[in-house]
Amino acid sequence: MSTLFVTHPAFLDHRPGVGHPERPQRVSAIEEALAAPRFDRLARELAPLRDDVEAAIVRAHGPEHLLRVKAAAGREDFPYAFDDDTAISAGSLEAAYRAVGAGLLAVDRVFDPAHEARNAFLAVRPPGHHAERNRVMGFCLFNNIAAAALYARKRHGAGRVAIVDFDVHHGNGTQQIFWEDRDVFFGSTHEMPLFPYTGEVSETGAGNIVNAPLRSGDGGARFREAMEARILPALDAFRPDLILVSAGFDAHFADPLGDLRLTEEDFAWITLKLVEAADRCCDGRLVSFLEGGYNLDALERSSAAHVAALAQGA
Ligand code: ZN
Repeated sequence: MSTLFVTHPAFLDHRPGVGHPERPQRVSAIEEALAAPRFDRLARELAPLRDDVEAAIVRAHGPEHLLRVKAAAGREDFPYAFDDDTAISAGSLEAAYRAVGAGLLAVDRVFDPAHEARNAFLAVRPPGHHAERNRVMGFCLFNNIAAAALYARKRHGAGRVAIVDFDVHHGNGTQQIFWEDRDVFFGSTHEMPLFPYTGEVSETGAGNIVNAPLRSGDGGARFREAMEARILPALDAFRPDLILVSAGFDAHFADPLGDLRLTEEDFAWITLKLVEAADRCCDGRLVSFLEGGYNLDALERSSAAHVAALAQGA
C-alpha cells in the first residue's frame, strides 16, 4: 500500500494577479520537495477533469454559485476580482475543476477494495476551505474538501466523514456548509483574531463542530495541546468512515499571513496523529488537501514533512 500524490500542471495557470500570495509557485515548490528520492515510492496521478465535477460542486454549493463562477470565468478582462482577496484568470475554472476532481479521485482510490492507496495528499489550487455555500472568499472558489465529503457519502456510502483543518485561518466555508450536518465532523485549530474572524469555541453547529482557537504567538506546544485535548478525542468519538484534512501550512513560523509559529515537526506530529486515528476508525482512509502556506521554503519543508508522515503510516 502507498500514499498517493495528486497534482496537475493546470494548477499553475490559476493566476489571481501579480503580487498575490496564493501564487502558482506554491505548487511548484511542493512538486520540487516531493521529487526527492525518499519519495520514490509515492503513487502519483494527475488531477482529472471529470464528467461528474459540476454535480459534485452543486452538491456543496447549489447551482447558482457554480453559474456565477462560470460566468466570471467567461469574461475577457483578467484577472477579474470577486473581492479584495479572490480573483480569477483565464486558467482558473479548469484549475478549480481539477482541484475538486483531485478530491473525487482520491476518495475513489482510498475506498477502492484493492487498497492500493491508503491515504493521499493533493497539491491543488485554488484552495477551498473559505468558500461558503453561496460565496467565493479568501482565495477560494469552490470548497474542494466539502465536495469530496459529500461525494464520499453519495458514491461510496460513507455514513460519517470527519474533516480536520489545521490551516492558520478558520475554515469558515467548510463549517458553514456542514453547520447542521450531524454526519460530518468539523474540527479546527486556527489563530484568532485573524481572517475570517469566525471559529469561536461557542460555534458548535449541531454538536458536530469543534473549534479550538489559538492566539498569535502560541507555538507548537499550545497547538499540540489543543489537538490532544479537544480535536483528537472528538474525532475518535465521532467514529468516521473517512478522514479528510484541510492541510494549510500557513501556521508555520516563517509564513507571512499568520503568527502561530509552528514548525515542520509540528506538521509531521499532527499528520501522524491523524494517520493513527484513521487506522483506528476507518482502515487508514485519509485524504489531505492543500489549503494555505505562503512562504515557499516553509511550504516545501512542511509539505515534505506532512507527506513523509502520511507515507510512514501507509
Ligand atoms: Zn490559511
